[in-house]
Amino acid sequence: MNKRRKFLLASVLALQNSSFIYPSCRKCFSRVILVSKRSNCPKCGSTGEAENTSYRYKLSLKVAESNKLFVITVFGSCLDTFFGLTATDLHKILKANMEKVRISVTYMHALTTKEKSKH
Ligand SMILES: [Zn+2]
Repeated sequence: MNKRRKFLLASVLALQNSSFIYPSCRKCFSRVILVSKRSNCPKCGSTGEAENTSYRYKLSLKVAESNKLFVITVFGSCLDTFFGLTATDLHKILKANMEKVRISVTYMHALTTKEKSKH
Protein backbone atom coordinates (compact mmCIF):
# COMPACT_ATOMS: atom_id res chain seq x y z
CA MET A 1 0.00 0.00 0.00
CA ASN A 2 1.07 3.53 -0.71
CA LYS A 3 2.20 5.23 2.51
CA ARG A 4 1.30 8.65 1.13
CA ARG A 5 -2.39 7.76 1.22
CA LYS A 6 -4.66 10.77 1.48
CA PHE A 7 -8.37 11.17 1.82
CA LEU A 8 -10.15 13.31 -0.72
CA LEU A 9 -13.70 14.48 -0.22
CA ALA A 10 -14.79 15.58 -3.68
CA SER A 11 -17.70 15.63 -6.07
CA VAL A 12 -17.59 13.25 -9.00
CA LEU A 13 -18.12 15.13 -12.27
CA ALA A 14 -17.55 12.39 -14.79
CA LEU A 15 -16.44 8.85 -15.33
CA GLN A 16 -13.42 8.99 -17.64
CA ASN A 17 -13.21 5.35 -18.69
CA SER A 18 -16.08 3.37 -20.17
CA SER A 19 -14.47 0.05 -19.31
CA PHE A 20 -14.26 0.15 -15.52
CA ILE A 21 -13.41 -3.46 -14.82
CA TYR A 22 -10.43 -5.32 -16.17
CA PRO A 23 -9.17 -8.90 -16.13
CA SER A 24 -6.47 -8.95 -13.49
CA CYS A 25 -3.56 -11.14 -12.53
CA ARG A 26 -4.11 -13.05 -9.28
CA LYS A 27 -0.48 -12.51 -8.30
CA CYS A 28 0.38 -8.92 -9.23
CA PHE A 29 -3.05 -7.37 -10.09
CA SER A 30 -1.83 -6.20 -13.52
CA ARG A 31 -4.09 -6.44 -16.54
CA VAL A 32 -3.87 -9.90 -18.09
CA ILE A 33 -4.21 -10.68 -21.78
CA LEU A 34 -6.93 -13.20 -22.65
CA VAL A 35 -6.10 -15.28 -25.70
CA SER A 36 -7.99 -18.41 -26.73
CA LYS A 37 -9.22 -19.53 -23.29
CA ARG A 38 -5.88 -18.73 -21.60
CA SER A 39 -4.88 -15.73 -19.54
CA ASN A 40 -1.36 -14.40 -19.60
CA CYS A 41 0.16 -11.71 -17.40
CA PRO A 42 2.69 -9.62 -19.33
CA LYS A 43 4.15 -8.28 -16.09
CA CYS A 44 4.88 -11.38 -13.99
CA GLY A 45 4.39 -14.13 -16.58
CA SER A 46 1.62 -15.85 -14.62
CA THR A 47 -0.76 -17.92 -16.77
CA GLY A 48 -4.13 -19.54 -16.19
CA GLU A 49 -7.50 -20.55 -17.59
CA ALA A 50 -9.39 -17.55 -19.02
CA GLU A 51 -12.62 -18.68 -17.39
CA ASN A 52 -10.99 -18.50 -13.94
CA THR A 53 -9.81 -14.93 -14.48
CA SER A 54 -10.65 -12.56 -11.68
CA TYR A 55 -11.65 -9.00 -12.44
CA ARG A 56 -10.83 -5.74 -10.66
CA TYR A 57 -12.46 -2.38 -10.62
CA LYS A 58 -10.62 0.56 -12.09
CA LEU A 59 -12.58 3.77 -12.05
CA SER A 60 -11.00 6.82 -13.58
CA LEU A 61 -12.93 9.81 -12.28
CA LYS A 62 -12.92 13.51 -12.89
CA VAL A 63 -13.62 15.10 -9.53
CA ALA A 64 -13.91 18.60 -8.14
CA GLU A 65 -12.81 19.73 -4.72
CA SER A 66 -12.93 23.41 -3.72
CA ASN A 67 -12.53 24.83 -7.24
CA LYS A 68 -9.83 22.36 -8.19
CA LEU A 69 -10.24 19.60 -10.75
CA PHE A 70 -8.54 16.25 -10.35
CA VAL A 71 -8.48 13.07 -12.35
CA ILE A 72 -8.19 10.21 -9.90
CA THR A 73 -8.14 6.46 -10.37
CA VAL A 74 -9.77 4.19 -7.82
CA PHE A 75 -8.66 0.57 -7.91
CA GLY A 76 -9.71 -2.76 -6.55
CA SER A 77 -11.86 -4.26 -3.85
CA CYS A 78 -12.51 -0.98 -2.01
CA LEU A 79 -15.20 -0.51 -4.70
CA ASP A 80 -16.96 -3.82 -3.87
CA THR A 81 -19.07 -2.07 -1.22
CA PHE A 82 -19.92 0.75 -3.63
CA PHE A 83 -21.13 -1.60 -6.37
CA GLY A 84 -22.53 -4.17 -3.94
CA LEU A 85 -20.63 -7.04 -5.53
CA THR A 86 -17.12 -7.95 -6.61
CA ALA A 87 -15.80 -6.97 -10.05
CA THR A 88 -15.63 -10.68 -10.94
CA ASP A 89 -19.34 -11.14 -10.13
CA LEU A 90 -20.25 -7.95 -11.98
CA HIS A 91 -18.32 -9.17 -15.01
CA LYS A 92 -20.33 -12.44 -14.98
CA ILE A 93 -23.61 -10.47 -14.97
CA LEU A 94 -22.40 -8.08 -17.70
CA LYS A 95 -21.17 -10.94 -19.84
CA ALA A 96 -24.51 -12.78 -19.56
CA ASN A 97 -26.42 -9.60 -20.44
CA MET A 98 -24.08 -8.66 -23.28
CA GLU A 99 -24.90 -12.01 -24.88
CA LYS A 100 -28.62 -11.10 -24.73
CA VAL A 101 -27.94 -7.60 -26.14
CA ARG A 102 -25.84 -9.05 -28.94
CA ILE A 103 -28.61 -11.49 -29.88
CA SER A 104 -31.24 -8.73 -29.98
CA VAL A 105 -28.93 -6.39 -31.94
CA THR A 106 -28.33 -9.14 -34.51
CA TYR A 107 -32.08 -9.73 -34.64
CA MET A 108 -32.80 -6.00 -35.03
CA HIS A 109 -30.14 -5.75 -37.76
CA ALA A 110 -31.76 -8.66 -39.58
CA LEU A 111 -35.15 -6.91 -39.33
CA THR A 112 -33.87 -3.52 -40.58
CA THR A 113 -31.97 -5.15 -43.42
CA LYS A 114 -35.17 -6.95 -44.40
CA GLU A 115 -37.10 -3.65 -44.27
CA LYS A 116 -34.53 -1.90 -46.50
CA SER A 117 -34.54 -4.64 -49.11
CA LYS A 118 -38.32 -4.25 -49.52
CA HIS A 119 -37.94 -0.70 -50.89
ZN1 LIG B 1 1.00 -10.80 -12.89
